Amino acid sequence: MESIDYLKILVEDIHSTVVATIGKDGHPVTRCIDMMLYDENGVYFLTAKGKEFYTQLMGQKYISLSAIRDQKCISLSGKVENIGSQKLDEIFEADPYMQKIYPGDTRSALEVFRIYDAEGNFFDISNPSHVKRGTFTIGNAKIRLSGYFIGEGCTGCGACLPVCPQECIDISKIPAVIVQDCCLHCGRCVPVCPEKVIRKVG
Ligand code: SF4
Ligand code: SF4
Repeated sequence: MESIDYLKILVEDIHSTVVATIGKDGHPVTRCIDMMLYDENGVYFLTAKGKEFYTQLMGQKYISLSAIRDQKCISLSGKVENIGSQKLDEIFEADPYMQKIYPGDTRSALEVFRIYDAEGNFFDISNPSHVKRGTFTIGNAKIRLSGYFIGEGCTGCGACLPVCPQECIDISKIPAVIVQDCCLHCGRCVPVCPEKVIRKVG
């Protein structure tokens, strides 16, 4: 899937997310925030200027969020910027419930933020025997390679396959290959490898 497909799931299918920032005491703080719009430039949400969340966004300019629905989960971390009242009316058109929360001109209490340069992860366990994961980016963010990989020296002995909860190791190849979009990152395959060629990256 393309990045825009993941953003569509985030905004249209899941919509309500839990967003983390850092509180005044230096600890993580979370709250529920609806993701309102998306396009090729990012994801848009809003908050009121009087909220502590607004102050944290303006100071930290970075957020992490997670959201889940129907056993499909998306996490997204990246830079955030205030775009003022841009897209505010568009958001109220797209999500009419906002007109009841902030009727008339009271929407002027709100400002819109855009998440850009962000890295996301998708996890689908709706079929638990065949989980699916994916990664995507917004803007200039780079996907950081992470997970478990089999290197040179693999003999194809197959010892790693029976301990894998998802049986997602292709031992028909040498070196064997971990099917990355099905791997749980559980690490069970590492200690059983007699050649010690399975390594964790990231
Ligand atoms: S990390 Fe876990 S899920 Fe991934 S290949 Fe190894 S045993 Fe399988
Ligand atoms: S246990 Fe190690 S050597 Fe054997 S197939 Fe798996 S990765 Fe290759």
